[in-house]
Amino acid sequence: MPELPEVETLRRALVPLVENRTCLEMRFFRSDLRFPIPTGELKKELLGRKVSSITRAGKYLLLNAPGGAMLWHLGMSGRVTQRPSMEPVEKHTHAVFRFSPGTCLHFVDPRRFGAIAWAPSAVGHRLLRHLGPDPFSAETTAAHFKTKAKNCRAPVKAFLMDSKRLSGVGNIYACEALFTAGIRPARRAGKLSLADWDRLLEALRDTLNKSIDAGGTTLRDFFNPAGDAGYYAVDLAVYGREGEPCRRCRSPIRRRIDSGRSTFYCRQCQKR
Ligand SMILES: [Zn+2]
Repeated sequence: MPELPEVETLRRALVPLVENRTCLEMRFFRSDLRFPIPTGELKKELLGRKVSSITRAGKYLLLNAPGGAMLWHLGMSGRVTQRPSMEPVEKHTHAVFRFSPGTCLHFVDPRRFGAIAWAPSAVGHRLLRHLGPDPFSAETTAAHFKTKAKNCRAPVKAFLMDSKRLSGVGNIYACEALFTAGIRPARRAGKLSLADWDRLLEALRDTLNKSIDAGGTTLRDFFNPAGDAGYYAVDLAVYGREGEPCRRCRSPIRRRIDSGRSTFYCRQCQKR
């Protein structure tokens, strides 16, 4: 599943292709993904208009135009590829956009959990309205989370992954950040001290940054306008390493299932 670093990697790759470029053409091959696609509104608002910037909120990409923004979400299996023509090449190509001078961006999503939407500048979009702050936003401070988590009985890992509280943090990065910070995934969020939150948020940003630098960990076939061979996974400390020795203390990495998701952790290193 594309996580925040993949979305940020995609955003950076798209900057030279869409920023200050005019949207010349768009074609849709179905009327819905996870939600209906507002095809009429997108055509009316974007065709012949310039995209001023491409920004990110959690795992949403916002292609900002004069009257609002086109939102993209990659869902479970979404990808954006760059092609020379509007003609869909891959199966599950649901939309194609052409930007000046001639870049065609193909939105491909086999499982169709992704989204293409329009957020008018005046009112925003319901998908963004309840989104918590991005891990890199100025709002994301230890003090903010200490207050937000007050009396919260949920495990800190669930807290981190709740997009209403913090946007864009998936299972991989929640596990890795908790390991780096030495905090038990099952610890109640309300029990974390200010110093714990400080350590945890720093670990989270650090882990995300490493992965952004490496070009994202899971989106191997994501297009790369520079034409490089591809991206390499960063070395994950706990995620996917059940039974393997912890790199810090050599005791085996454990896995438990929390509400259907695997949690990887080290019992020795995560005692806080
Ligand atoms: Zn360990």
